[in-house]
Amino acid sequence: MKKLQFILFIILLLTGCQKKSYSNNVVTIIEHDQNTLIGINYPITNQKKLDKIIKKDIEKQHRSFKKNNQSNYSSHQKSELNIDYSFQKIANYYNISTNTYLSNSKQALTKNYIKTYVYDLKKKKLLTLKDILPEGDLYYLTKYTKNFLIKNSTLPKNIIYTKIKQNYNTYQNFTFDQDYLYLYFDSHTFTYNNFQIKIPLENLNPIIDIDQKAINTINTKIKVPTKILDPSKKFIALTFDDGPSIYTKDILKILKKYHSNATFFVLGNKVEIYQDTIRQSIQDGNEIGNHSYSHKWLIKLNEEELNEQISKTQNIIKNTTGYTPKLLRPTYGSVNQKIKELKNFQIVLWNVDTLDWKYKNIDRIVSRATQHAKDGNIILMHDIHQRTVKALEKIIPILQKQGFELITVSEMEEIKFLRSKRKTE
Ligand code: ZN
Repeated sequence: MKKLQFILFIILLLTGCQKKSYSNNVVTIIEHDQNTLIGINYPITNQKKLDKIIKKDIEKQHRSFKKNNQSNYSSHQKSELNIDYSFQKIANYYNISTNTYLSNSKQALTKNYIKTYVYDLKKKKLLTLKDILPEGDLYYLTKYTKNFLIKNSTLPKNIIYTKIKQNYNTYQNFTFDQDYLYLYFDSHTFTYNNFQIKIPLENLNPIIDIDQKAINTINTKIKVPTKILDPSKKFIALTFDDGPSIYTKDILKILKKYHSNATFFVLGNKVEIYQDTIRQSIQDGNEIGNHSYSHKWLIKLNEEELNEQISKTQNIIKNTTGYTPKLLRPTYGSVNQKIKELKNFQIVLWNVDTLDWKYKNIDRIVSRATQHAKDGNIILMHDIHQRTVKALEKIIPILQKQGFELITVSEMEEIKFLRSKRKTE
Protein backbone atom coordinates (compact mmCIF):
# COMPACT_ATOMS: atom_id res chain seq x y z
CA MET A 1 0.00 0.00 0.00
CA LYS A 2 2.75 2.37 0.98
CA LYS A 3 4.58 1.55 -2.21
CA LEU A 4 1.51 2.43 -4.26
CA GLN A 5 1.16 5.71 -2.42
CA PHE A 6 4.78 6.46 -3.12
CA ILE A 7 4.39 5.72 -6.84
CA LEU A 8 1.29 7.91 -6.98
CA PHE A 9 3.21 10.65 -5.24
CA ILE A 10 6.03 10.43 -7.80
CA ILE A 11 3.55 10.52 -10.69
CA LEU A 12 1.90 13.57 -9.19
CA LEU A 13 5.26 15.20 -8.69
CA LEU A 14 6.33 14.49 -12.26
CA THR A 15 3.12 15.70 -13.89
CA GLY A 16 3.19 18.73 -11.62
CA CYS A 17 6.72 19.63 -12.65
CA GLN A 18 6.06 19.09 -16.31
CA LYS A 19 3.10 21.38 -16.24
CA LYS A 20 5.08 24.06 -14.48
CA SER A 21 7.93 24.11 -16.97
CA TYR A 22 5.51 24.93 -19.80
CA SER A 23 3.46 27.60 -18.16
CA ASN A 24 4.57 31.17 -18.59
CA ASN A 25 3.19 34.21 -16.92
CA VAL A 26 3.52 37.92 -17.42
CA VAL A 27 4.01 40.45 -14.69
CA THR A 28 2.31 43.79 -15.25
CA ILE A 29 3.03 46.86 -13.17
CA ILE A 30 0.90 49.95 -13.78
CA GLU A 31 1.54 53.00 -11.62
CA HIS A 32 0.71 56.65 -12.06
CA ASP A 33 0.86 59.88 -10.12
CA GLN A 34 0.92 63.57 -11.02
CA ASN A 35 4.41 63.33 -12.53
CA THR A 36 4.77 59.88 -13.97
CA LEU A 37 3.08 57.08 -15.86
CA ILE A 38 4.56 53.62 -15.54
CA GLY A 39 3.48 50.61 -17.58
CA ILE A 40 5.74 47.58 -17.29
CA ASN A 41 5.25 44.09 -18.73
CA TYR A 42 7.75 41.28 -18.48
CA PRO A 43 7.55 37.51 -18.77
CA ILE A 44 8.07 34.87 -16.09
CA THR A 45 9.52 31.79 -17.76
CA ASN A 46 9.80 29.48 -14.74
CA GLN A 47 13.52 29.20 -15.49
CA LYS A 48 14.84 30.48 -12.17
CA LYS A 49 18.17 31.78 -13.40
CA LEU A 50 16.67 33.60 -16.36
CA ASP A 51 13.75 35.04 -14.38
CA LYS A 52 16.14 36.43 -11.81
CA ILE A 53 18.20 38.22 -14.47
CA ILE A 54 15.18 39.70 -16.26
CA LYS A 55 13.57 40.83 -13.00
CA LYS A 56 16.80 42.46 -11.88
CA ASP A 57 17.14 44.37 -15.20
CA ILE A 58 13.53 45.52 -15.03
CA GLU A 59 13.74 46.61 -11.41
CA LYS A 60 16.85 48.60 -12.18
CA GLN A 61 15.05 50.51 -14.93
CA HIS A 62 11.98 51.01 -12.75
CA ARG A 63 14.05 52.36 -9.86
CA SER A 64 16.15 54.70 -11.93
CA PHE A 65 13.07 56.08 -13.71
CA LYS A 66 11.41 56.82 -10.38
CA LYS A 67 14.57 58.39 -9.03
CA ASN A 68 14.97 60.63 -12.08
CA ASN A 69 11.37 61.78 -12.01
CA GLN A 70 10.71 62.43 -8.36
CA SER A 71 9.74 66.00 -8.94
CA ASN A 72 8.40 67.58 -12.04
CA TYR A 73 8.04 71.29 -12.58
CA SER A 74 5.80 71.21 -15.57
CA SER A 75 2.31 70.22 -14.59
CA HIS A 76 1.20 69.67 -18.18
CA GLN A 77 3.81 67.09 -19.01
CA LYS A 78 4.28 63.69 -17.50
CA SER A 79 7.24 61.40 -17.80
CA GLU A 80 6.49 57.92 -19.06
CA LEU A 81 8.19 54.57 -18.71
CA ASN A 82 6.78 51.76 -20.82
CA ILE A 83 8.33 48.32 -21.03
CA ASP A 84 6.95 45.80 -23.47
CA TYR A 85 8.34 42.38 -24.25
CA SER A 86 8.33 39.68 -26.87
CA PHE A 87 8.64 36.02 -26.08
CA GLN A 88 9.24 33.19 -28.50
CA LYS A 89 10.18 29.59 -28.00
CA ILE A 90 12.23 28.34 -30.94
CA ALA A 91 13.12 24.66 -30.56
CA ASN A 92 14.91 24.48 -27.18
CA TYR A 93 15.57 28.19 -26.92
CA TYR A 94 13.67 31.03 -25.39
CA ASN A 95 14.08 34.25 -27.35
CA ILE A 96 13.03 37.13 -25.19
CA SER A 97 13.38 40.84 -25.68
CA THR A 98 12.24 43.70 -23.52
CA ASN A 99 11.55 46.96 -25.26
CA THR A 100 11.83 50.11 -23.19
CA TYR A 101 10.28 53.41 -24.11
CA LEU A 102 11.27 56.32 -21.96
CA SER A 103 10.08 59.88 -22.13
CA ASN A 104 11.41 62.43 -19.74
CA SER A 105 9.29 65.55 -19.67
CA LYS A 106 11.93 67.71 -17.97
CA GLN A 107 14.57 67.06 -20.56
CA ALA A 108 12.08 66.68 -23.42
CA LEU A 109 13.80 63.44 -24.19
CA THR A 110 12.48 60.19 -25.56
CA LYS A 111 14.46 56.99 -25.77
CA ASN A 112 13.88 53.46 -26.97
CA TYR A 113 16.00 50.51 -26.19
CA ILE A 114 15.88 46.78 -26.48
CA LYS A 115 17.38 44.19 -24.17
CA THR A 116 17.53 40.62 -25.30
CA TYR A 117 17.84 37.22 -23.65
CA VAL A 118 18.47 34.03 -25.59
CA TYR A 119 18.22 31.12 -23.19
CA ASP A 120 19.20 27.52 -23.86
CA LEU A 121 16.64 25.34 -22.09
CA LYS A 122 18.84 22.26 -22.22
CA LYS A 123 22.06 23.85 -21.00
CA LYS A 124 20.17 26.23 -18.71
CA LYS A 125 22.21 29.25 -19.69
CA LEU A 126 22.00 32.56 -21.46
CA LEU A 127 23.71 32.46 -24.83
CA THR A 128 26.16 34.84 -26.42
CA LEU A 129 26.76 35.24 -30.13
CA LYS A 130 29.67 32.84 -29.80
CA ASP A 131 27.32 30.08 -28.68
CA ILE A 132 25.22 30.26 -31.81
CA LEU A 133 27.54 31.40 -34.63
CA PRO A 134 30.95 30.04 -35.65
CA GLU A 135 33.60 32.76 -35.73
CA GLY A 136 33.91 32.27 -39.48
CA ASP A 137 30.39 33.54 -39.88
CA LEU A 138 31.42 36.99 -38.67
CA TYR A 139 32.87 37.43 -42.13
CA TYR A 140 29.39 36.92 -43.55
CA LEU A 141 28.03 39.59 -41.30
CA THR A 142 30.01 42.14 -43.29
CA LYS A 143 29.64 40.43 -46.63
CA TYR A 144 25.88 40.55 -46.32
CA THR A 145 25.69 43.97 -44.77
CA LYS A 146 24.42 45.34 -48.05
CA ASN A 147 21.35 43.19 -47.62
CA PHE A 148 20.86 44.04 -44.00
CA LEU A 149 17.69 45.83 -43.24
CA ILE A 150 18.87 48.71 -41.19
CA LYS A 151 16.22 50.57 -39.30
CA ASN A 152 16.75 54.20 -38.36
CA SER A 153 20.41 54.16 -39.12
CA THR A 154 23.04 54.88 -41.68
CA LEU A 155 25.74 53.25 -39.62
CA PRO A 156 28.76 52.25 -41.70
CA LYS A 157 28.97 48.49 -42.02
CA ASN A 158 32.61 48.27 -40.98
CA ILE A 159 31.70 49.74 -37.60
CA ILE A 160 29.08 47.05 -37.12
CA TYR A 161 31.60 44.38 -38.02
CA THR A 162 34.30 45.73 -35.73
CA LYS A 163 31.92 46.11 -32.81
CA ILE A 164 30.54 42.62 -33.14
CA LYS A 165 33.97 41.06 -33.66
CA GLN A 166 35.36 42.81 -30.59
CA ASN A 167 32.46 41.61 -28.46
CA TYR A 168 31.94 38.25 -30.12
CA ASN A 169 32.48 36.22 -26.91
CA THR A 170 30.10 38.26 -24.82
CA TYR A 171 27.72 39.74 -27.37
CA GLN A 172 24.17 39.22 -26.13
CA ASN A 173 22.13 41.75 -28.06
CA PHE A 174 20.52 39.32 -30.48
CA THR A 175 17.55 37.04 -30.97
CA PHE A 176 16.60 34.59 -33.68
CA ASP A 177 13.64 32.82 -35.15
CA GLN A 178 13.44 30.07 -37.77
CA ASP A 179 14.38 32.46 -40.57
CA TYR A 180 16.48 35.31 -39.25
CA LEU A 181 19.15 36.34 -36.82
CA TYR A 182 18.39 39.77 -35.35
CA LEU A 183 21.17 41.93 -33.97
CA TYR A 184 20.29 44.93 -31.85
CA PHE A 185 22.35 48.00 -31.18
CA ASP A 186 21.43 50.67 -28.77
CA SER A 187 22.73 53.95 -27.57
CA HIS A 188 24.83 52.13 -24.98
CA THR A 189 26.73 50.35 -27.71
CA PHE A 190 26.92 53.21 -30.16
CA THR A 191 26.30 56.87 -30.16
CA TYR A 192 23.32 56.17 -32.41
CA ASN A 193 19.85 55.51 -31.15
CA ASN A 194 18.72 51.92 -31.12
CA PHE A 195 18.33 49.98 -34.33
CA GLN A 196 18.36 46.45 -35.52
CA ILE A 197 19.63 44.41 -38.42
CA LYS A 198 18.27 41.10 -39.54
CA ILE A 199 20.28 38.50 -41.39
CA PRO A 200 18.69 35.53 -43.16
CA LEU A 201 19.87 32.38 -41.37
CA GLU A 202 20.35 30.63 -44.71
CA ASN A 203 23.37 32.88 -45.21
CA LEU A 204 24.89 31.72 -41.91
CA ASN A 205 25.93 28.43 -40.35
CA PRO A 206 24.36 28.49 -36.91
CA ILE A 207 25.78 26.02 -34.40
CA ILE A 208 22.40 25.64 -32.77
CA ASP A 209 19.69 23.33 -33.94
CA ILE A 210 16.56 25.34 -34.50
CA ASP A 211 14.61 22.98 -36.70
CA GLN A 212 11.20 22.47 -35.27
CA LYS A 213 7.92 21.31 -36.59
CA ALA A 214 5.57 24.20 -36.82
CA ILE A 215 2.73 23.63 -34.41
CA ASN A 216 -0.19 25.70 -35.44
CA THR A 217 -3.29 25.18 -33.41
CA ILE A 218 -6.32 26.46 -35.19
CA ASN A 219 -8.65 27.91 -32.65
CA THR A 220 -12.29 27.45 -33.37
CA LYS A 221 -14.69 30.17 -32.45
CA ILE A 222 -15.92 29.75 -28.90
CA LYS A 223 -19.58 29.28 -28.17
CA VAL A 224 -21.02 32.09 -26.10
CA PRO A 225 -24.02 31.40 -23.85
CA THR A 226 -27.14 33.37 -24.71
CA LYS A 227 -28.70 35.46 -22.00
CA ILE A 228 -32.06 37.12 -21.65
CA LEU A 229 -31.95 40.44 -19.84
CA ASP A 230 -34.91 42.15 -18.23
CA PRO A 231 -34.53 45.92 -18.67
CA SER A 232 -36.71 46.60 -15.64
CA LYS A 233 -33.98 45.31 -13.34
CA LYS A 234 -30.92 47.18 -11.96
CA PHE A 235 -27.52 46.56 -13.52
CA ILE A 236 -23.86 47.25 -12.87
CA ALA A 237 -20.89 46.49 -15.12
CA LEU A 238 -17.68 45.34 -13.47
CA THR A 239 -14.60 45.95 -15.62
CA PHE A 240 -11.08 44.61 -15.16
CA ASP A 241 -8.06 46.25 -16.80
CA ASP A 242 -4.41 45.35 -17.50
CA GLY A 243 -4.86 41.56 -17.46
CA PRO A 244 -5.00 38.72 -17.97
CA SER A 245 -2.77 37.46 -15.20
CA ILE A 246 -2.42 34.47 -12.90
CA TYR A 247 -5.34 35.92 -10.89
CA THR A 248 -7.84 36.14 -13.73
CA LYS A 249 -8.90 32.50 -13.45
CA ASP A 250 -9.81 33.07 -9.79
CA ILE A 251 -11.91 36.04 -10.83
CA LEU A 252 -13.67 33.90 -13.45
CA LYS A 253 -14.43 31.32 -10.77
CA ILE A 254 -16.02 33.92 -8.49
CA LEU A 255 -18.06 35.40 -11.34
CA LYS A 256 -19.32 31.94 -12.23
CA LYS A 257 -20.18 31.13 -8.61
CA TYR A 258 -22.47 34.18 -8.48
CA HIS A 259 -23.86 33.79 -12.04
CA SER A 260 -22.32 37.13 -12.90
CA ASN A 261 -20.37 38.51 -15.85
CA ALA A 262 -17.78 41.20 -16.34
CA THR A 263 -15.73 42.89 -19.04
CA PHE A 264 -11.98 42.36 -19.28
CA PHE A 265 -9.90 45.04 -21.01
CA VAL A 266 -6.81 43.07 -21.88
CA LEU A 267 -3.29 43.96 -23.00
CA GLY A 268 -2.43 42.42 -26.37
CA ASN A 269 1.03 41.32 -25.32
CA LYS A 270 -0.48 38.92 -22.79
CA VAL A 271 -3.20 37.34 -24.89
CA GLU A 272 -1.12 34.49 -26.30
CA ILE A 273 0.27 33.47 -22.94
CA TYR A 274 -3.13 33.45 -21.28
CA GLN A 275 -5.15 32.19 -24.24
CA ASP A 276 -6.88 29.52 -22.14
CA THR A 277 -7.98 32.14 -19.63
CA ILE A 278 -9.34 34.42 -22.34
CA ARG A 279 -11.18 31.62 -24.10
CA GLN A 280 -12.63 30.47 -20.78
CA SER A 281 -13.70 34.01 -20.04
CA ILE A 282 -15.69 34.31 -23.28
CA GLN A 283 -17.15 30.85 -22.85
CA ASP A 284 -18.51 31.93 -19.46
CA GLY A 285 -20.31 34.87 -21.07
CA ASN A 286 -17.83 37.61 -20.21
CA GLU A 287 -16.68 40.26 -22.66
CA ILE A 288 -13.16 41.04 -23.87
CA GLY A 289 -12.20 44.63 -24.71
CA ASN A 290 -9.03 46.23 -26.07
CA HIS A 291 -6.70 48.06 -23.64
CA SER A 292 -3.77 48.55 -26.07
CA TYR A 293 -0.83 46.24 -26.69
CA SER A 294 1.66 47.26 -24.00
CA HIS A 295 -0.13 50.01 -22.04
CA LYS A 296 1.60 52.95 -23.70
CA TRP A 297 0.05 56.34 -23.02
CA LEU A 298 -2.05 56.42 -26.18
CA ILE A 299 -2.61 60.17 -26.40
CA LYS A 300 1.16 60.64 -26.87
CA LEU A 301 1.40 58.36 -29.90
CA ASN A 302 1.34 59.31 -33.54
CA GLU A 303 -1.20 57.71 -35.84
CA GLU A 304 1.04 54.84 -36.85
CA GLU A 305 2.05 53.96 -33.29
CA LEU A 306 -1.53 54.27 -32.09
CA ASN A 307 -2.77 51.95 -34.83
CA GLU A 308 -0.09 49.45 -33.95
CA GLN A 309 -1.06 49.38 -30.26
CA ILE A 310 -4.72 48.92 -31.15
CA SER A 311 -4.76 46.66 -34.21
CA LYS A 312 -2.06 44.32 -32.99
CA THR A 313 -4.27 43.68 -29.97
CA GLN A 314 -7.41 43.28 -32.10
CA ASN A 315 -5.69 40.75 -34.34
CA ILE A 316 -4.26 38.65 -31.57
CA ILE A 317 -7.62 38.47 -29.77
CA LYS A 318 -9.36 37.58 -33.04
CA ASN A 319 -6.82 34.83 -33.75
CA THR A 320 -7.12 33.43 -30.24
CA THR A 321 -10.87 33.53 -29.76
CA GLY A 322 -12.54 34.15 -33.10
CA TYR A 323 -14.02 37.37 -31.70
CA THR A 324 -13.16 40.95 -32.52
CA PRO A 325 -13.54 43.31 -29.55
CA LYS A 326 -15.91 46.22 -29.97
CA LEU A 327 -14.82 48.09 -26.85
CA LEU A 328 -11.72 50.16 -26.23
CA ARG A 329 -10.54 51.43 -22.89
CA PRO A 330 -7.74 53.97 -23.42
CA THR A 331 -4.75 53.64 -21.09
CA TYR A 332 -4.76 55.85 -18.00
CA GLY A 333 -8.26 56.90 -19.08
CA SER A 334 -6.80 59.58 -21.39
CA VAL A 335 -8.72 60.32 -24.58
CA ASN A 336 -7.92 62.67 -27.47
CA GLN A 337 -9.39 63.36 -30.88
CA LYS A 338 -7.29 60.67 -32.59
CA ILE A 339 -8.62 58.05 -30.21
CA LYS A 340 -12.18 59.28 -30.61
CA GLU A 341 -11.82 58.94 -34.35
CA LEU A 342 -10.76 55.29 -34.25
CA LYS A 343 -13.26 53.30 -36.27
CA ASN A 344 -15.35 50.38 -35.03
CA PHE A 345 -14.82 51.11 -31.37
CA GLN A 346 -16.88 52.24 -28.48
CA ILE A 347 -14.70 54.02 -25.93
CA VAL A 348 -15.49 52.86 -22.42
CA LEU A 349 -14.36 54.76 -19.35
CA TRP A 350 -15.78 54.26 -15.84
CA ASN A 351 -17.66 56.19 -13.17
CA VAL A 352 -16.54 54.21 -10.10
CA ASP A 353 -12.82 53.77 -9.46
CA THR A 354 -12.03 51.19 -6.77
CA LEU A 355 -8.37 52.31 -6.67
CA ASP A 356 -7.49 48.65 -6.19
CA TRP A 357 -4.06 49.35 -7.73
CA LYS A 358 -3.33 51.81 -4.93
CA TYR A 359 -5.07 50.58 -1.79
CA LYS A 360 -3.75 47.45 -0.12
CA ASN A 361 -6.73 47.31 2.24
CA ILE A 362 -9.41 44.96 0.89
CA ASP A 363 -12.34 46.50 2.79
CA ARG A 364 -11.42 49.92 1.45
CA ILE A 365 -11.66 48.55 -2.11
CA VAL A 366 -14.95 46.81 -1.27
CA SER A 367 -16.52 49.95 0.13
CA ARG A 368 -15.41 52.07 -2.85
CA ALA A 369 -17.12 49.57 -5.16
CA THR A 370 -20.33 49.13 -3.20
CA GLN A 371 -21.04 52.51 -1.58
CA HIS A 372 -23.54 54.63 -3.51
CA ALA A 373 -24.07 51.80 -6.00
CA LYS A 374 -26.28 53.00 -8.84
CA ASP A 375 -27.99 51.39 -11.80
CA GLY A 376 -25.78 51.82 -14.87
CA ASN A 377 -22.49 52.16 -12.99
CA ILE A 378 -19.27 51.00 -14.59
CA ILE A 379 -16.74 49.93 -11.96
CA LEU A 380 -13.00 49.95 -12.61
CA MET A 381 -10.81 47.18 -11.19
CA HIS A 382 -7.59 45.41 -12.22
CA ASP A 383 -7.19 41.65 -12.50
CA ILE A 384 -3.47 41.77 -11.80
CA HIS A 385 -3.67 41.99 -8.01
CA GLN A 386 -4.50 39.25 -5.56
CA ARG A 387 -6.30 41.75 -3.33
CA THR A 388 -8.72 42.44 -6.17
CA VAL A 389 -9.71 38.76 -6.15
CA LYS A 390 -10.30 38.92 -2.41
CA ALA A 391 -12.28 42.15 -2.70
CA LEU A 392 -14.45 40.72 -5.48
CA GLU A 393 -15.47 37.82 -3.22
CA LYS A 394 -17.13 40.45 -1.00
CA ILE A 395 -18.26 42.96 -3.64
CA ILE A 396 -20.51 40.69 -5.67
CA PRO A 397 -22.72 39.41 -2.81
CA ILE A 398 -23.12 42.95 -1.46
CA LEU A 399 -24.22 44.32 -4.84
CA GLN A 400 -26.52 41.37 -5.47
CA LYS A 401 -28.12 41.88 -2.06
CA GLN A 402 -28.83 45.47 -3.12
CA GLY A 403 -30.65 44.04 -6.14
CA PHE A 404 -28.05 44.55 -8.86
CA GLU A 405 -27.24 42.12 -11.64
CA LEU A 406 -23.68 42.16 -12.93
CA ILE A 407 -23.39 42.20 -16.69
CA THR A 408 -20.93 43.10 -19.44
CA VAL A 409 -20.54 46.59 -20.91
CA SER A 410 -22.15 45.59 -24.22
CA GLU A 411 -25.08 44.07 -22.35
CA MET A 412 -25.42 47.33 -20.47
CA GLU A 413 -25.59 49.14 -23.82
CA GLU A 414 -28.28 46.73 -24.93
CA ILE A 415 -30.27 47.44 -21.78
CA LYS A 416 -30.04 51.18 -22.44
CA PHE A 417 -31.22 50.59 -25.98
CA LEU A 418 -34.16 48.43 -24.87
CA ARG A 419 -35.19 51.02 -22.30
CA SER A 420 -35.05 53.89 -24.80
CA LYS A 421 -37.12 51.83 -27.21
CA ARG A 422 -39.73 51.22 -24.53
CA LYS A 423 -39.94 54.90 -23.78
CA THR A 424 -40.60 55.82 -27.39
CA GLU A 425 -43.13 53.05 -27.91
ZN1 ZN B 1 -4.63 50.16 -17.55
